[in-house]
Amino acid sequence: MINAWRFGALRVLFRGACSVLLTVLSVSAVSETVESPFKSLDGEWAQGTIVRGQVRPGTEIQFLDRQVRVSDSGHFVIGLGRDFEPEARLLTRAPDGEEREHLFEVRQREYRIQRVDGVPQQTVTPDPEQVKRSREEAAQAWRARQVETDLLDFTETFVWPLRGRITGVYGSQRIFNGEPRAPHFGVDIAAPTGTPVRAPAAGVVTLTHPDMFFSGGTLIVDHGHGLSSTFIHLHKILVEEGERVAQGDIIAEVGATGRATGPHLDWRMNWFDQRVDPTFLVGPMDDDD
Ligand SMILES: [Zn+2]
Repeated sequence: MINAWRFGALRVLFRGACSVLLTVLSVSAVSETVESPFKSLDGEWAQGTIVRGQVRPGTEIQFLDRQVRVSDSGHFVIGLGRDFEPEARLLTRAPDGEEREHLFEVRQREYRIQRVDGVPQQTVTPDPEQVKRSREEAAQAWRARQVETDLLDFTETFVWPLRGRITGVYGSQRIFNGEPRAPHFGVDIAAPTGTPVRAPAAGVVTLTHPDMFFSGGTLIVDHGHGLSSTFIHLHKILVEEGERVAQGDIIAEVGATGRATGPHLDWRMNWFDQRVDPTFLVGPMDDDD
């Protein structure tokens, strides 16, 4: 009896040691003896990117304390925010229960930081009604970005919603008199009011708002598994909440609504709360079309 129990305990210990060993093996990825849970893994591991992949069916994934949605075909997506730490940790659990830890080095980016000193201090008392309104609108947009559906549109190759001069980039930040302002999370494309905005990928409309305080005409499209596109400062929105859109469909018109200095499209992308850089999905814009 006692011997059997001790043997059991030893086995547990041994299995513990084994899983540590497996972890080390999968991290080094050189002398991997066990089949990798990943069939594919696409995307650079850098701040502001998304990584798309496919695992063997039945594999579970954990990332940032979230159970990552994996489709029946094994497809998944994760996003890394602007200030993501230098290392990303992903846990997988195979159908046989085997757990593995995968570590990835995350490229740290340098963002465009603009320091403006000696600006006269503005003592503007915010209008409490305005503060309340913008908070409610931010919560509304936040809720739309928490939507998690089984759409697989995130696996598509994304296209630019329109072409034009890029006037604002992801991650940039202004520091006034040493006080950092909120970073800019979208890509700004200058275009005249009324220019058509096309869906960069298929999806379902999760939010339309004609005129939010900061972002003006606001439209959010869900591409599935937590990946969404947000378009702001729109002049007109041509789709409705719940509507399915195909890639290339005209969904809105460029404007200068909300707090915008001139007509442009501000396109943002999120994986839930991780704000990612849309330009990573579409690549450089061709000048000739
Ligand atoms: Zn912008």
